[in-house]
Amino acid sequence: PSLSKLLIVFTVSGGGLVAYSEAGKLNDNSNAGELVGANNRKKKVVVLGTGWAGTSFLKNLKDPSYDVQVISPRNYFAFTPLLPSVTCGTVESRSVVEPIRNIIRKKYAEAYYWEAECIKIDPENKKVYCRSNLSINGNGKEEFAVDYDYLVIATGARVNTFNIPGVEENTFFLKEVEDAQKIRRTVIDCFEKASLPTLSDEERKRLLHFVIVGGGPTGVEFAAQLHDFVNEDIVRLYPKVKDLVKITLLEATDHILNMFDKRITAFAEEKFHRDGIDVKTGSMVVKVGEKEISTKDVKRGEITSMPYGMAVWSTGIGTRPVIMEFMKHIGQGNRRVLATDEWLRVEGQENVYALGDCATINQRKVMEDIAAIFQKADKDNSGTLTVKEFQEVLNDICERYPQVELYLKNKKMSNLVDLLKESKGNGVKESIEVDIEEFKSALSQVDTDMKNLPATAQVASQQGVYLAKCFNRMEECEKNPEGPLRFRGEGRHRFHPFRYRHLGQFAPLGGEQTAAQLPGDWVSIGHSSQWLWYSVYASKQVSWRTRALVVSDWVRRFIFGRDSSQI
Ligand code: FAD
Repeated sequence: PSLSKLLIVFTVSGGGLVAYSEAGKLNDNSNAGELVGANNRKKKVVVLGTGWAGTSFLKNLKDPSYDVQVISPRNYFAFTPLLPSVTCGTVESRSVVEPIRNIIRKKYAEAYYWEAECIKIDPENKKVYCRSNLSINGNGKEEFAVDYDYLVIATGARVNTFNIPGVEENTFFLKEVEDAQKIRRTVIDCFEKASLPTLSDEERKRLLHFVIVGGGPTGVEFAAQLHDFVNEDIVRLYPKVKDLVKITLLEATDHILNMFDKRITAFAEEKFHRDGIDVKTGSMVVKVGEKEISTKDVKRGEITSMPYGMAVWSTGIGTRPVIMEFMKHIGQGNRRVLATDEWLRVEGQENVYALGDCATINQRKVMEDIAAIFQKADKDNSGTLTVKEFQEVLNDICERYPQVELYLKNKKMSNLVDLLKESKGNGVKESIEVDIEEFKSALSQVDTDMKNLPATAQVASQQGVYLAKCFNRMEECEKNPEGPLRFRGEGRHRFHPFRYRHLGQFAPLGGEQTAAQLPGDWVSIGHSSQWLWYSVYASKQVSWRTRALVVSDWVRRFIFGRDSSQI
């Protein structure tokens, strides 16, 4: 039944919480109402999600003048970059999670946490509808509504199966801590089953064929972890079946790790080849059966099937249903993720912010705005700007759109004149005037080249920090705006726009070797980068408790190997 039919609102009192229920099944949420209503003069900030974006926002929100309510079906923060290590027992699952209550307890701002999932966002009435994860007294799951002054959407994304038949039912995802735990149990399960005396060799081989779909950083790291596990621990524990193990990595494009520098891709492919990991590029999965996986050769179109024991699906991310619904409601139904402006505000929505994997800054709008900046600067409507005028416009653009500046830096250009020169193929003299139409066409080049920010923890956590800082200084910046000049209307924007700083990325390749791509195209591959990886990931832990646990897990693994118990 549709949500609107389910709702019977029965309490709307002082606080921010409104209980509602299915017809005839009224919930008594009065206690929760009291809690939330304890200080109703404060501005209510509702945060959806306790992942990278939501948690970094909460950790950095210091202004005590907010009443913060956190809603998430997960009462902990999970350090996702270490999930591949959890799949094989290199790190324990409890070491990579921190209870969200521990995190918000230490904050200046008043904060409450509700273990629930947001099922509907109602921007007109400034409310979110939620369903608790928990069933109390067998009465079904509690449902309630929370109103907000500011809404921070940080619900992340879900796994994308591309509607390929059998993926949902037969493969394992690697997105949440539970997924990593399931994979760990199933890997051991495959070895135990394959060791039973009653099985044929063929069946043993099938059980020990591990297929990983997706040659991105997560799929590659899982393949490397599994290979290390087999070579360092399984050989000792399951000597009879060790030689039957096969690891296959399927990737639809021509190379694995294609978002990395070509040197890293080449090294990874060569290393996997040496390690005996079968990397099949140009191979697209079309169907996953219970025991067989079918792939299509992208170039030749041939379809082949192979038997497998366990398949892990790691091909990218899709939109969560609640966000999809919200996007349809606000006229963004044709998009994959929520479109925001450079201040992370959902386009067209007042006081609704979106960050992390569920959102992206709308580049199309950026280009329209830049064109408008030019139009405004062209006071005499001549269609041209002088180089001096142009430089001023350019400064405006770079201040307002850090992506443009970043693009120019990446292209090793000092400004758009260079870009224009490049597009014209000859020199533009400083004295001649700059044609706006030519600029626009040069900018369309920026448009195609300027990629959306990647869906990574790095982006999500920087956005969380940025937004918290804006919230901390909301009142101050209301009075003394510090952002760039408005080009529609007068005065300045309150804040500087969000600016992403890329700090580099890692691809662990197994055998204590990691590839690191650091800012400035600096590439390092090998054992030294592995130590860099250890130090960065230890330092990035969300608390001293998880830091201590993760480091002790690494030491335990060095000394005793991985634990292969079936628990
Ligand atoms: P998430 O961290 O996914 O958090 C979303 C939160 O929203 C969760 O708490 C979830 O429970 C909650 N939620 C979901 N639905 C609802 C709802 N309806 N209502 C309320 N709350 C909801 N990135 C890197 O930069 N480096 C890496 O090395 C790296 N490794 C990765 C390894 C793995 C295995 C995975 C899966 C991802 C990795 N990433 C890495 C990507 C990174 O984890 C994501 O980009 C990041 O988690 C995005 O943060 P987020 O806050 O948007 O979403």
